[in-house]
Amino acid sequence: MERTVGFGEPATTGFWYRYEGEHLHSERSPYQQIDVYETASFGRVLVLDGLLQTTERDEFCYHEMLVHVPLLTVEAPRRVLIIGGGDGGSLRHALMHPSVERAVMCEIDERVVAACRRWLPSVSAGAFDDPRAELVFDDGVAFVARSDDRWDAVIVDSSDPVGPGVGLFRAPFYRRVREHLAPGGVLAVQACSPFFQPRELHDAYRNLREAFPEVRLYLGAVPTYPGTLWAYALAGESLTIDPEAARRRAEERKLQTRYWSPELHGAAFALPAFVRAILEGEYPAFADGANANAG
Ligand code: SAM
Repeated sequence: MERTVGFGEPATTGFWYRYEGEHLHSERSPYQQIDVYETASFGRVLVLDGLLQTTERDEFCYHEMLVHVPLLTVEAPRRVLIIGGGDGGSLRHALMHPSVERAVMCEIDERVVAACRRWLPSVSAGAFDDPRAELVFDDGVAFVARSDDRWDAVIVDSSDPVGPGVGLFRAPFYRRVREHLAPGGVLAVQACSPFFQPRELHDAYRNLREAFPEVRLYLGAVPTYPGTLWAYALAGESLTIDPEAARRRAEERKLQTRYWSPELHGAAFALPAFVRAILEGEYPAFADGANANAG
């Protein structure tokens, strides 16, 4: 591949993130454009349809919060379903929990898995070959609709609500997930950028509230995601956010974390006023511009 000066990702109208590096891989799958870059500051980076998905350097910030928060909310998670997650990072983190006996990853685009195996092996770090892991190449909406499995945790690690990801942010999908949770089971989803995707965040939260009795939003920082502040949502029949229980479970499971901490397990659910306003349907001035990524 030619040496590329860099590529840019629009965070919102008139505001871009720009990366310098080498263009290692480019292909058009039946679902999306897949690119991988070697960047000076974040190592290798996966980009789908021009939108950054994950980087070697800061993937832990995202995967630890998306995966450990739900799995540490459950006493002994055994069956985990991951929707999306083609880079393998969510799968790797789920398999860090010794009680997990079966982790199914339903990814719509097998070319993403192939590209990440080849160009970003550090993100999955062998997870795809773990005997407990099972890869299914299908639309997560269709998979959940026909599955009769029961899950202790379902994790939606999808791209934003554009293209093939749209159905994963809607109430009918969330209702089907609820039907497939084991007693005490939880759903965790990535819920977009509070700063630059307030409408997507609001709609995902509203749709979750239509499907689940209890939904709690939580936040984390991911340097390479637009606005850095990132939203996640936890949903279930009833949710107990207990940092001390999470601490005990993390110690029992010998989890080594670089972002998640027992204190953060509780503090992440404390929301800034503007995020609460978004959940109520009010959009702060700085996010008035239509998000450049929104479909
Ligand atoms: N961490 C990223 C984020 O927060 O945007 C997501 C990374 S992961 C690569 C996103 C994956 O979701 C992609 O590989 C994409 O192919 C997959 N995906 C999108 N829509 C899907 C669907 N309906 N069913 C299953 N996988 C889907």
